Amino acid sequence: MDYFLYKGDELYAEEVLVSKIAEQYGTPCYIYSQQTLERHWHAVDAAFAQHPHRICYAVKANGNLTLLKILADLGAGFDIVSGGELARVMAAGADPQKIVFSGVGKTTAEIRQALSIGIGVFNVESLPEIHRINDIAESMGKIAAVAVRINPDINAHTHPYISTGLAHNKFGIDKNEVIAVYKTIRQLPALKAVGMACHIGSQILELTPFAEALSCVLQLVTALKEHNIILQHVDVGGGLGVCYDTEIPPSLVEYASTLLSTLHKQAPYPLDLWLEPGRVLMANAAILVAKIEYLKESANKTFAILDAGMTDLVRPALYDAHHKIIAVKKLAQKEITVDLVGPVCESSDFLGKSRLLAINTGDLIAVRSVGAYGFSMGSHYNARPRCAEVLVHKDETQLIRRRETIADLLSHEQKQPFIKMQALGNDFVLLDLDENPELWSSDKIKQFSHRQTGIGFDQLLTIQRKEGNQFYYKIYNADGGEVEQCGNGARAVALYLILENKIECSKDIQLLTCNRLMTVKTIGPHRFVVDMGKPDFSPAAIPLQMPLQDQYEIVADDEACNFSAVSMGNPHAVLRVEAIDNAPVQTLGKALCLHPCFPKQSNVGFMQIIDKHRLALRVYERGVGETLACGSGACAAAVIAIRDGDCQSPVTVQLTGGELIIHWQGKNEPVWMEGDAQCVYEGTV
Ligand code: PLP
Repeated sequence: MDYFLYKGDELYAEEVLVSKIAEQYGTPCYIYSQQTLERHWHAVDAAFAQHPHRICYAVKANGNLTLLKILADLGAGFDIVSGGELARVMAAGADPQKIVFSGVGKTTAEIRQALSIGIGVFNVESLPEIHRINDIAESMGKIAAVAVRINPDINAHTHPYISTGLAHNKFGIDKNEVIAVYKTIRQLPALKAVGMACHIGSQILELTPFAEALSCVLQLVTALKEHNIILQHVDVGGGLGVCYDTEIPPSLVEYASTLLSTLHKQAPYPLDLWLEPGRVLMANAAILVAKIEYLKESANKTFAILDAGMTDLVRPALYDAHHKIIAVKKLAQKEITVDLVGPVCESSDFLGKSRLLAINTGDLIAVRSVGAYGFSMGSHYNARPRCAEVLVHKDETQLIRRRETIADLLSHEQKQPFIKMQALGNDFVLLDLDENPELWSSDKIKQFSHRQTGIGFDQLLTIQRKEGNQFYYKIYNADGGEVEQCGNGARAVALYLILENKIECSKDIQLLTCNRLMTVKTIGPHRFVVDMGKPDFSPAAIPLQMPLQDQYEIVADDEACNFSAVSMGNPHAVLRVEAIDNAPVQTLGKALCLHPCFPKQSNVGFMQIIDKHRLALRVYERGVGETLACGSGACAAAVIAIRDGDCQSPVTVQLTGGELIIHWQGKNEPVWMEGDAQCVYEGTV
């Protein structure tokens, strides 16, 4: 049972109209039902409840991070087959100990990655692989837990491409060689045999092959006992079939009772049972929604040409698989017989043949049971961007993978364009992710920021349009760390958006940082005011581990010092000095920045009051050192000077790199920062 049902004539995903989801997120798109996925998980778990078991979801069926996280939160382990899948499950919050690494071709880098993460077990498939894992583990000073995947030579009566347990398949180790292999493992210093595994294929609709395979495993476990090799678990793999059309797969209760009774009868000693289900958890938890672009009449048939094809769902082309296809809105009109095909230039590009449907051009159809081996087997063939994935939970929808853009497709083959901006002595490299959506690791940022061997910059800024004049705005220091807000950078971004004609100039620009929304107003050709948010003096907000005071006193750099503190989205300590040129920025600045009373470190400003509307400032920035200019630091200093009655708004803050004007009308009001920005260089790397 799933949660894709008609109410009246309209198809719903849980409580949401499928047509609404298509309207909001576009087509083609995969729609997942969280309740269906959770229900399947609980059904598998409950079926095996009476025996110690572990369910390691086979990630290859569908590796979407949000879906993996749902399963991880339910307590799932994971069956992975590559370093990429390992990275995915770790990003989703998997418990490393519950990860099984399967697959015939593990590379040295993947084995190393898995050992350093500390995964639960390698399901090994050949002697050379066993030796490789041993050598790598030994060199890393680790012991690798292994389970031999046996090839039981059993016919699972499924499609030849998804049959894996026959002697002529590439998978597993010949059952006749298994004892010798375990003896070899015993000799190897960095391996420990903990289990035995098998996986005989997928979409299996009979119970007998499962029972035979487990029986074969248990006979070998019994034989190993004679050699004093004792294991802890047997892993029966995945493979249970689902209903795509008229198939009647065994129920989970029948499946569990077959496996458990085989185990109870034949196990030589108590063994945990591990499972690697993929399809049975995922398949019926999703539909693929597509639009009919054309109805094309040919000599002897009608084609419904969809905006989805084999690049979105390859199972029909690859295995001649059958998926039910239904109309998203039932129409009271005559049904026609159609072949539903995609736009891809292959005759195998079909999703369904000879289907009876009441449809017109422009209508939406839903392909059912596509959660497993659907999106995960998609491709970019014909330069088609991968489609969107949406999760529905009750009456809520969530985009869990955005539709790829053409820019995504080109990004790996193009140089990275960048633009260098400067605002008040700070220089910024700005990357527009709408033009080139590459992900920036902190290592890459460090490389890029290097003044001798890279481009050199104070901060890297990335922007990506959310909607209208609203953009995601991320700020990274040259050390790769992300920063909460940067007002000077916000002005640089505003200038870029204006120069590139990317916004409606009459409206304010809104920038969404990792923790707030910043508004930027244009007041001159290169001049902007930025809403820097409300100052927050509370120690919890800064954060500062001291009770609230206007002036704090601590010992830093072996001297007692007084400072005020405020959060301007990021932490600031401000010290007063008599002469700005002699301020101990490098020594006391650094010591205070790293002082344990600031659990997230702090920026440190040294301020000299010049008159009621002017102060001078030098700033030691977290992760950077002394900088020519710090916008939030200028706000922090001006706010403290206004609060303490030394200055009145507006305050001109004189920084090493230039001047900023800070406007603040007092408590509960936001701080506005006024200044300019310039574009200094454009290039590619
Ligand atoms: N385990 C292994 C080793 C596999 O190769 C596969 C699929 O091919 C599975 C588990 C999951 O199989 P299924 O999706 O049929 O449950």
